[in-house]
Amino acid sequence: MAVSFTLHGLGVSEGIAIGNASLISHATLEVSHLTVAPRMVDKEIERFDQAVATVKKELSMMKETTEHAPAELAAFIDIHAMFLEDPELVDKPREIIRARRCNAEWALVQQLEQLVAQFEQFDDPYLRERKFDVRQVVERVIKELLGHPSRAALKGGKGLKEETQVLVAHDLSPADVIAFKEHRFASFITDVGGATSHTAILARSMAIPSVGGLENARALIRNGEMLIVDGLRGIVIVDPDERVLEEYRLRKNQIELEASKLKRLKSARSQTIDGVEVALHANIELPVDIPEALEGGAEGVGLFRTEFLFLDRGDMPDEQEQYEAYKKVVKGMAGRPVTIRTFDLGSDKDLHPDSMRHDRVRTNPALGRRAIRLSLAEPQLFQTQLRAILRASKYGPTKLLIPMLAHAHEIDQTLAALEQAKASLREEKASFDENIQVGGMIEIPAAALAIGLFLRRLDFLSIGTNDLIQYTLAIDRSDEQVAGLFDPLHPAVLMLLAHTITSAEKAGVPVSVCGEMAGNPVLTRLFLGMGLRIFSMHPSQILKVKNRVLKANAGELAPAVRRILRLDEPAKLREALERLNA
Ligand code: PEP
Ligand code: MG
Repeated sequence: MAVSFTLHGLGVSEGIAIGNASLISHATLEVSHLTVAPRMVDKEIERFDQAVATVKKELSMMKETTEHAPAELAAFIDIHAMFLEDPELVDKPREIIRARRCNAEWALVQQLEQLVAQFEQFDDPYLRERKFDVRQVVERVIKELLGHPSRAALKGGKGLKEETQVLVAHDLSPADVIAFKEHRFASFITDVGGATSHTAILARSMAIPSVGGLENARALIRNGEMLIVDGLRGIVIVDPDERVLEEYRLRKNQIELEASKLKRLKSARSQTIDGVEVALHANIELPVDIPEALEGGAEGVGLFRTEFLFLDRGDMPDEQEQYEAYKKVVKGMAGRPVTIRTFDLGSDKDLHPDSMRHDRVRTNPALGRRAIRLSLAEPQLFQTQLRAILRASKYGPTKLLIPMLAHAHEIDQTLAALEQAKASLREEKASFDENIQVGGMIEIPAAALAIGLFLRRLDFLSIGTNDLIQYTLAIDRSDEQVAGLFDPLHPAVLMLLAHTITSAEKAGVPVSVCGEMAGNPVLTRLFLGMGLRIFSMHPSQILKVKNRVLKANAGELAPAVRRILRLDEPAKLREALERLNA
């Protein structure tokens, strides 16, 4: 009989999910290296042949079920099927198993590496790209070998619905998660990753209960096993007994009931008891997020993370494609303001490795050529994006937001680049908003401390608390090993926040917070007391925060928060915050 056990990790996205484990992995990187006993070699080859045959069958099934899908998808399946006929991929690993007595997975990975190296030699970019197809085919075979059926097999073969699947992965990149947006999985859980990594942010944006930093969930959980995911507490219960299941079903219903009650606040005016207006905006990643933003009652888009248009692909979207995406968002928000952030690529949101020059792996990518630094280093890329945003600005109120600014000259160069983009559009007689507002993200401590130079040059500010905390406390936001030290309430963080908000207020420059702190209802009163009047967050958090705003008295909160900000003893600070929220 299976024994129930509980895994502890980091709560990434709150809510409760109950479903069956579906193990997914970048299997090629993780296969074990085993020596096969001589008498077992034939059996190992048979196991390999069997896996290849199953994947071939799976592909032909996929082809049948995607009859009406776009031609590219069919072509893609054909290429994969073709590779499975290639002796380099089906015969060579058999030879390796026999000659070197490697297990099938290991033999296949060795041959894969050979093939990838050969594809990389091609001058023709199309042929070079095919290495990704080989990799994907091999991953399918390996998953089969490991007893990890692919998603297609899970859907077709075992009759598991997406809504009941809990994806279990060692690690997921933001690009992986963005691909899940078209699906409705119950939950996903990972071994690694901090609570403000971009992967975690995406989980929250999809309002899917999620737990990260579980360390060895993938190793301990078996495919199909029943799981309870408690995204608030950061725990996963494996194979729960009926009593525990019942308790969680009840809790899940309660959460759903509370969420449906909150829906009544959607059209309520967002203001405090003493009549202070508080703007609640949505953070989005893709145009498909707009309906949810509107559903949540967002008054605008406070942060459109455009870099997600760039992930999970082998090339960069051209101006027209970007323009279409930005236009969709601006038009979709129907007259509400949309703040488009220029791309924040680099660090954990790296481009597809082949889509730009990658000379060497950097030791500290978060401190490297990321965001505006990359944009200014790639002027062509930047012009393309600026032109696309400007062209979209004619469809509704649009603002431009620049990520990761630290230096005055970065702002000056950005404004000059914007002028250049405007001039080129004027020449073409294209219409756009001549007075588009330009804002800067405050997410580097240097920017918060030297706020004056930002206030003098920019029309508005937006505080990115995720990076501000990362850089203030020197904590990698993606690293679960130091996640416990990632503390939004560290007195230094609060000092930087308060300083930025008060300085902006004094200068008459609008300031918002768009990092994860803005969507945490526990911090709403604290921010209101600091003087914050514009919040931007995942659509799923807006009504929860609005609920707090409606019950707050901004005038009373201000002196109470001033007192809290004088505290620098963490325990006292937490106690005072609890009293503020009581
Ligand atoms: C932030 O750093 O808080 C922010 C909003 O930007 P991102 O999370 O995309 O880095
Ligand atoms: Mg940031």
